[in-house]
Amino acid sequence: MRQAARITQESASQWDHVVVVTSAMGKAIGARDNIKVTDALLIAARTAANGDSDTFHRIRRELTDKHQAAIDGTISNAQERMRIQEEIEQLLSGFEILCASVRVLGEVTPRALDAISGLGERMAARILAGALRSQGVPAEPVDATELIITNDHYQSANPLMEATREKTRARLLPLIEGGIVPVVTGFIAATASGVPTTLGRGGSDYSGSIIGAVLDADEVHNYTDVDGVLTADPRIVPEARTIHTLTGQEMSELAFFGAQVLHPMTIAPLLEQKIPLRVKNTFNPGHPGTLILQEPPRRETGLHGGGTVKAVTMIDKVSMVTVAGRGMKGVTGIAGRMFTAVARTNTSVLMISQASAEQSICFVIPHAASARVALELKREFSPELSTSEIDHIHTIEDAAIVTAVGMGIAFTPGVSGKVCSAVGKLGINIIAIAQGSSECGISLVVSGPDSRESVRAVHALTASS
Ligand code: ASP
Ligand code: MG
Repeated sequence: MRQAARITQESASQWDHVVVVTSAMGKAIGARDNIKVTDALLIAARTAANGDSDTFHRIRRELTDKHQAAIDGTISNAQERMRIQEEIEQLLSGFEILCASVRVLGEVTPRALDAISGLGERMAARILAGALRSQGVPAEPVDATELIITNDHYQSANPLMEATREKTRARLLPLIEGGIVPVVTGFIAATASGVPTTLGRGGSDYSGSIIGAVLDADEVHNYTDVDGVLTADPRIVPEARTIHTLTGQEMSELAFFGAQVLHPMTIAPLLEQKIPLRVKNTFNPGHPGTLILQEPPRRETGLHGGGTVKAVTMIDKVSMVTVAGRGMKGVTGIAGRMFTAVARTNTSVLMISQASAEQSICFVIPHAASARVALELKREFSPELSTSEIDHIHTIEDAAIVTAVGMGIAFTPGVSGKVCSAVGKLGINIIAIAQGSSECGISLVVSGPDSRESVRAVHALTASS
């Protein structure tokens, strides 16, 4: 919190207008305190739904202590400290009342989860604004329920940009012009009728870019806890390096295929206005981090070739489902029925590949959904299964998608050969390949136990620039 206030102060001295967007507090670094606030709030709601009141009472006490420590460590003025303490108390009482109601009802709806899980950001924004004022920077907390309007897809709502632009500018521009730094809650938003929603886990990144886009910002800076975007997950590849520059498309691909550094939707609002995004380290702000520039895709500029692998990422705990049989060949509508059946289970498909002979289609889904999906497919295709037009619906339960990312690699001759042989040389079997839907990614499916080694093999191809 102190570091966030320092970085904001620095930025406010360099730029005429600054808006801060904050997530909830995370785990304390190097301390015994091991709860991420949003996780704790969600645990409280779920245990309350199961009839447990001890857990949410205990979590309330822990959250009080955690935020109190942040207040004590950042806000010097006693009066201000009292005021913010009271506001946090009020939010936490509200939290307790919500949890008690959930317990009485015996269930927690997605809508209630959004109301509860967004409290961490509300608390953080108030403390951060107080910390800034303590450092002599005029600041005011603003709940994004007043700014970002979404649909009612609770737990991962989609922003309605036109309405958001209007609301945000009306509320924030007067503050900014008056020399006040707005400290906006990340993660949360509201429907047009004012019901709180959230943008999905990790959604504060997305909030930052939505607010940046509607304010026509010159730049958006995203502070995380690593030195920018790395060439791979350092827990798998210890020699992973910071990538100096990426295109928006490369970043979207990395985030979609498992890089944890940014919420997968973060780039989208910035693309159209070509707003650059910097990813920097809160705890090492002198490091330049990664600069993400919104360049046009090569396809549009007519450039083919020259693509090199810049980074590698992985999604594990996925399953690959194959639907195969002679009845698939030349019969229209099978793929349509198949994906409609999958959609009924509310599962998002991560990757698709179809054999050229049209005898089989395979696709990858999160492992947690695999039983549900298999059941629904068997139901959908029971006529074809009984006449053996479809021979089998088969699931490889423990698989991983390993994705190589670099502008143009899917259109550059030889790159997929190199990626596959790097993995093949280790004796690892590649179960499926997909490339070309995005020009900057080549994805392989391997079995779960082979995934880390595959990532290291592909990482060895990254160009050192
Ligand atoms: N606090 C929210 C979460 O933990 C949003 C964020 O941190 O970006 O998912
Ligand atoms: Mg985050």
